[in-house]
Amino acid sequence: MIQKTGLVVFVTAFALFSVLPFLGSYRLERTTVAQEVKAEHHSVMTELLEPMYDREYPSNIAFIRDFQRYFSGYNDRMKTEQRWDEVIWDNYAFPLTKAAAVGPVQKRPMGYFLASVLLAVIGALLYIIPLYRNQPPGVKNDGIQYSSMTSRGLLGIVTGSWLIIFYIALYWFPEYLTNLVIMVDPISLALSGNPASQWFLYGLVYTLAILVMGVRMFRKYKGNAYQTIRTASVMFFQLSFAFLIPELLVLLNKPWHDFKNIWPLDYSFFFDYRLDGMLASGTLGLFMLFWGILLIVIGVPIFTYFYGKRWYCSWVCGCGGLAETLGDPYRQLSDKSLMAWKIERYMVHGVLVFAVVMTAITLANYFTQFQLLRDATDQVHSIYGFLIGAAFAGVVGTGFYPLMGNRVWCRFGCPLAAYLGIVQRFKSRFRITTNGGQCISCGNCSTYCEMGIDVRWYAQRGQAIVRASCVGCGVCASVCPRGVLKLENKSENGRTEEAPIMIGNHSVSIKP
Ligand code: SF4
Ligand code: SF4
Repeated sequence: MIQKTGLVVFVTAFALFSVLPFLGSYRLERTTVAQEVKAEHHSVMTELLEPMYDREYPSNIAFIRDFQRYFSGYNDRMKTEQRWDEVIWDNYAFPLTKAAAVGPVQKRPMGYFLASVLLAVIGALLYIIPLYRNQPPGVKNDGIQYSSMTSRGLLGIVTGSWLIIFYIALYWFPEYLTNLVIMVDPISLALSGNPASQWFLYGLVYTLAILVMGVRMFRKYKGNAYQTIRTASVMFFQLSFAFLIPELLVLLNKPWHDFKNIWPLDYSFFFDYRLDGMLASGTLGLFMLFWGILLIVIGVPIFTYFYGKRWYCSWVCGCGGLAETLGDPYRQLSDKSLMAWKIERYMVHGVLVFAVVMTAITLANYFTQFQLLRDATDQVHSIYGFLIGAAFAGVVGTGFYPLMGNRVWCRFGCPLAAYLGIVQRFKSRFRITTNGGQCISCGNCSTYCEMGIDVRWYAQRGQAIVRASCVGCGVCASVCPRGVLKLENKSENGRTEEAPIMIGNHSVSIKP
């Protein structure tokens, strides 16, 4: 009964969240344009949007369509006439749509926040807390293959499609989400003193998703110390380091900074505006720069040597945090084929090379006062940001949870995971040991490995697992009915076997 109530509350609140962007009307005032656009664009923009003033638009779709007509029309004309200095590169669609919104959400933002986001959280918790109560000890994923949500059924496809649309709007068309952003304005003002952007909305919803689904992990793995502490760790790092501390830094007039985000995952760390921002922020800014470099050159190798890449991917990282909580119901959808393993190695190391080359030319340009490549690096940043930062990490990385599993980004695209993986593979004390004699070949471990590792293959042979991609989530060990698998950080000696692993018809030595 409690679960059914929770489900109804969650679905109702979620439906409200989904329709909120389309509520209310829009009215643009001449004074709004003057407030929202840069001084150098005042006169052009004020004139350009003349036909829109004092008109009542019944929806954001109608408002944005008109705005794009006048704004893009002007820019297209300038480009055709090759008057490049007069092209307006700033995107004013989001701030002007937000400022022009009039309607119920703008009048009662907190009311709508409570009725959509907070009720969704309460409904989800009511559903989650009684879960797994009557489940026999040791059984974690009973009936998962019969659920439409977790076996690429209709519910999974609908959920994936919703996530993909949300991410596309978030990255490229935030003007369609203005009501949702207005709804969280009071929270943003209280935390940082600034009105909310789409990124504040995203950070808040992302953090709540990790916290709520983290509670589900506590229920699912109750009694399992490794899973409980690991989940508490990702919840803590997301709430404090990724959400609250950066907002408080902004309140203190310092640059927004996530101290646990490491280059090359934080691919813009060495971009000129970030370096200038840190260098202009006094001692704290210098500490941010020093800390970031320390993590790259000392933190990653040392921690990965002692603990494997799990110290970051499964205990600290925000992407990993979402994958291990919101994404947990989908971990069995990862592709276990040898072809996927092959593609994974090319892709993830390819992105790492892209990030390293981009950063190297960016720094070279920076230290030569942009004499070397002028603004060519900006084009490279845009390409990387579009392809890797937005399309891969966001749209595919999360939107494809219900279709391709929860670690698509970590496995195929994350350049930091590639760096950590190289250290883990060749110079680390971490391994998963297997007690082959006890294995009954049930295949649970392989099924629930989110990184697509065929764990059973190693267990049957009693071989230790030292794969670069293993994020040390420990779920293979948690779902093994025979206690075959152990995550260990022992001496490096004897970590890898003399015997080669056979892949297809080729033998590959696994000696480091
Ligand atoms: S091998 Fe085990 S610990 Fe490693 S990623 Fe797969 S399930 Fe997680
Ligand atoms: S290692 Fe455990 S989970 Fe994996 S196949 Fe063997 S008995 Fe099953």
